[in-house]
Amino acid sequence: MAPVSLTKQPLPPHFVLVPLAAHGHFIPMVHLARLLAARGVRVSLAATPLDVARLRGFADQAAHAKLPLELVELPFSPADAGLAPECQSADKLTEDSQLLPFLSAMRALRVPFEAYVRGLAPRPSCIISDWCSPWTAGVARSLGIPRLFFHGPPCFYSLCELNATVHGLREQIAAAGDDQETHVVPGMPVCVKVTKVTAPGFYNAPGFETLRDEAMEAMFTADGAVVNTFLDIEAQLVACYEAALGKPVWTLGPLFLHNRDDKAMALCGISSTTAVDQRAITAWLDEQAAGSVVYVSFGSVVRKLPKELFEVGHGLEDSGKPFLWVVKESEAATPEMQEWLDALEARTAGRGLVVRGWAPQLAILSHGAVGGFVTHCGRNSLLEAIAHGLPVVTWPHFADQFLNERLVVDVLGIGVPIGVTVPVRMLDDESMPVSRVDVVRAVSALMDGSEEAMDRRRKATEYGESARELAWPWRKEALRMRTRHVSQKTSCSLE
Ligand code: UDP
Repeated sequence: MAPVSLTKQPLPPHFVLVPLAAHGHFIPMVHLARLLAARGVRVSLAATPLDVARLRGFADQAAHAKLPLELVELPFSPADAGLAPECQSADKLTEDSQLLPFLSAMRALRVPFEAYVRGLAPRPSCIISDWCSPWTAGVARSLGIPRLFFHGPPCFYSLCELNATVHGLREQIAAAGDDQETHVVPGMPVCVKVTKVTAPGFYNAPGFETLRDEAMEAMFTADGAVVNTFLDIEAQLVACYEAALGKPVWTLGPLFLHNRDDKAMALCGISSTTAVDQRAITAWLDEQAAGSVVYVSFGSVVRKLPKELFEVGHGLEDSGKPFLWVVKESEAATPEMQEWLDALEARTAGRGLVVRGWAPQLAILSHGAVGGFVTHCGRNSLLEAIAHGLPVVTWPHFADQFLNERLVVDVLGIGVPIGVTVPVRMLDDESMPVSRVDVVRAVSALMDGSEEAMDRRRKATEYGESARELAWPWRKEALRMRTRHVSQKTSCSLE
């Protein structure tokens, strides 16, 4: 009989993850949670009741796969910040003015979070919290727990943000007075020009000063950073960011490639009623030529008014290209808009599909019929486009999106700008910076067979290959063959 060892097995490390309650922030952290758990780390994902409910399917799937992953529900009171009880996540906000109270309500999570962590024995090995959730810093410090911050944007953005702070760009811009004047972001290895309204910083608006100071302080006092990017797209920028930050930066992206459970992730969707039929979408895509369809989506938060939706729809129709356009449930809610979308689909029957609600974006992007993406430059959507080898039309709206645009257009060379230079508010902005003519021009430039378009496509294909080889090295050869097959078919269909 083999001797029985009486030595106690060491416990696995225990990581507590704290996302911000906004899809663009919590989705990549959910992928990170799964990645860590798959490596044997015990993971506790602390979230608001709504996000915990949305993640139930994901957690069940993780339990089924015997992964050491649990959800921790933190009581969340939007009413204490003067908000309606349903304002439990950024997608539930209906006015821009609710953003500050919402973030204040998130900040109040510190109390239940500290109580939860204090109750853990032994103490967790590490806390990883979103850059926008700096309130975890005090808890980690008081309990002596190492803390990393998670930053979703590419290092291109994060380095701009850091340099802007360290070198006083904000003060320089304020002193200049003229909103249209361009300023070079100091300390960047590439030339990056911004205006007052596109300058880096999540909390630049008046009233957000305390949040900004807390976030900066939490960034500088963290033990390191986890970033959703990968070296093949920005090795030099990552190195510069790590040097400027003076602490380790782990590039674990694209995180979504480590979690292909689309069904469980679909449950992270905005609404339980938007069970868009993935099979119907796939069947429609199956009918289209390889690489011919332009996918159009503006993420989880941006909400367009009818007059802007009309311009998008007419532009797609006039472009003559096959398109798959995601219109949010809230945008398509009125009978008039439903009717208009029905008419658009009838006029473009066979080459146009409007998905109303939460779309299975990863499944769509990975379909061989999709050949380009009109995106608001949300950090996740861009990374998903890059990892799927897709060139993009860039239509930034706010926050990091203008600098994300610069990365894909100027540095990576895979983007066609739609031409906006001024941010719009998140919800129901009145301004109309883009017309149907802009949509036609940009979509045509993206999808035609010109030398420039093919060059963008070739570069995008290479980035996509390297992202997937990084995540799935054992599938290297299979992927190379598939990509070659798709690009051969694509070049034929774009004649
Ligand atoms: N997403 C999706 N279906 C939709 C809209 C968005 O799956 O109909 C996902 C998308 O794949 C991405 C995230 O939601 O992972 C949106 O994040 P992003 O940073 O692109 O934009 P945000 O929503 O933060 O503006």
